[in-house]
Amino acid sequence: MSPNATLVSEAKNTWCPGCGNFAIQHAFRYVIEEYEKEGIPKEKFVLVSGIGCHAKIVDYFNLNSFYSLHGRTIPVATGIKMANPDLKVVCFAGDGDLYAEGLDHLIHAAKRNIDITVICHNNRVYGLTTGQYTPTSPYGYQGRSTPNGIHEYPLNIIEVLLGSGAGFVARAYSRNIPLLKRVIHEAISHPGFAHIDVLQICATFFNMTSVYDEQVYETSEANVSQFDMACRTGQQWNYSDPGPIPLGIFYKTIRPSLPEKREIKQTDRKKVIQEILSRYS
Ligand code: SF4
Repeated sequence: MSPNATLVSEAKNTWCPGCGNFAIQHAFRYVIEEYEKEGIPKEKFVLVSGIGCHAKIVDYFNLNSFYSLHGRTIPVATGIKMANPDLKVVCFAGDGDLYAEGLDHLIHAAKRNIDITVICHNNRVYGLTTGQYTPTSPYGYQGRSTPNGIHEYPLNIIEVLLGSGAGFVARAYSRNIPLLKRVIHEAISHPGFAHIDVLQICATFFNMTSVYDEQVYETSEANVSQFDMACRTGQQWNYSDPGPIPLGIFYKTIRPSLPEKREIKQTDRKKVIQEILSRYS
């Protein structure tokens, strides 16, 4: 038995054939194996999921995990991180779960710069409940709850995250596995709040494979610390019109995170901030 054969649990997998969740599971397993080679054991990781097809991912790993309520991955992850800052806490959430029910938590976690990683399985529908529209469904989307099509534009979550103060913002695609692995690894290594919006294929209710395959491209990460550049990249695609659709790390900057902010007292504020930032330089 290979050392990590035990990483995947024996739980029966019930995702539909062709679902993009398989790719995210595969990429995450690879990243955990890489961390183990780097000396960070799997026991250091805690996974938190919401409710939706994505959420089953925590059942499929033999890792510490918490199956939370709908839209509530981030408060649970925040509590775990605050109680034990040495842990690497990773949220798995769906687009309905995170960008609708959980949006307020997402915005404030980015604003507080809580040191957690959020991976959104963005299939742009509520898959578990048979394809109702979510905040990232395109204008005109016809689902079970909206047979005449929706008459509202989607939320550009990249703009929302940048405007909320997120220090690491990226987009990946479930059919670009090398990029997915690299971005997940970098997000977990990032000291502070990190968000990955993964365009995930829902093979059953919203199969965008041919559109995404045609439209996605990997953006340059040469100026990844420039906020205005990140905003322009994020505005290139509004989740509704055809692409081009940029993928990659759009923005990365380091600031003191929660719980590091606990170390900062009013009297020696500047000194402590400089000391914290020097840890990553
Ligand atoms: Fe995947 Fe869609 Fe099936 Fe859910 S309904 S398991 S997201 S293909």
